[in-house]
Amino acid sequence: DTFKAYLLREGDDRKVTGAFEEVAMSDLPEGDVTVRVAYSTVNYKDGMVMGGIGRLVRSYPHVPGVDFSGVVEASDNPGFKPGDKVVLTGWRVGEMHWGGYGELARVKGDWLVKLPDGLSLSRAMALGTAGFTAGLAVDTLEAAGMTPAKGEVLVTGAAGGVGSVAVALLAAKGYTVAAATGRAETHDYLTGLGAASFIDRAELAEQPGRPLNKERFQAAIDNVAGPTLANLLTQIAYGGSVAAVGLAGGNEVATTVLPFLLRGVNLLGIDSVMCPAERRQKVWSMIAGNLPMEKLDAISHSHGFDELPALGKAILKGEVRGRAVVTVGGE
Ligand code: NAP
Repeated sequence: DTFKAYLLREGDDRKVTGAFEEVAMSDLPEGDVTVRVAYSTVNYKDGMVMGGIGRLVRSYPHVPGVDFSGVVEASDNPGFKPGDKVVLTGWRVGEMHWGGYGELARVKGDWLVKLPDGLSLSRAMALGTAGFTAGLAVDTLEAAGMTPAKGEVLVTGAAGGVGSVAVALLAAKGYTVAAATGRAETHDYLTGLGAASFIDRAELAEQPGRPLNKERFQAAIDNVAGPTLANLLTQIAYGGSVAAVGLAGGNEVATTVLPFLLRGVNLLGIDSVMCPAERRQKVWSMIAGNLPMEKLDAISHSHGFDELPALGKAILKGEVRGRAVVTVGGE
């Protein structure tokens, strides 16, 4: 018995190439739950894995796909039975373990989240890793004191996957959202999601000239890092927080400690990959309960399984708007 998958192989020259192949079910990795994959998505990290960048994959052949939704086909885990609808994000699936770019996936049941009420399999992937991460960032900032009454919240990399969901979720919760994007053509789209104002990405892209600037935002969700993060830290209001999510603009940050020492600003790390199961379920429910489904539908666009290689290249170039959902087996 075989199933179709997008398989990456490493050549003698260490070059990584991908192709759609029929894979034997006996090649599936160890795990106590087998899932028939309905949808997967293309995240920035998937682009890196498909491009063989960043040494995220330990061994080849490899099936990428850091997230998927689907239906349990077989289970030795007491928490899951055939027919259960599930979502998987994180746990290094798609990097260390085979991921969602195959009609079947076998994983540890402990990694799976039951589909939250009100969410379909396709909408669960319209959210996916990026949506869950945006939810985690909002939840973390609120735990640190962010409230709608305290003023503007900045989202950088706003037109990307995490950024789009962050903008829509914050707006739905009553926040005034400033969106930083390098793509002026996405302004209408972001306005539709609830962005109240825009900042050109270039405005934040240079190292700040001064350690502190005018207090402009109560909080920020940062997908970019590099000089952008250094810059926005100088503009966070007294006691405010920044959720460090991404590194689309580099992984180094040259900052002074003055925002922390003189304004009590908090820099909060967001990790969606190893986030404990209990918190996952809570954050998924928070997103499903707050994000209007029509906003989610505006964020996502669906693609065929065969479009994976092209999408992988496009996301690395910053050309993917919102969330790219890929139909693997469908429903
Ligand atoms: P994405 O869809 O590619 O979004 C990234 C966005 O960043 C782009 O759409 C673009 O936004 C902006 N950007 C790209 N290159 C840039 C550059 N050189 N300088 C400044 N801005 C740039 O990726 P994603 O899936 O949303 O992920 C966003 C980031 O979060 C990635 O770095 C990803 O690795 C990270 N991430 C982290 C976690 C976690 O657990 N911490 C989870 C998921 C993702 P505009 O076009 O609007 O400017």
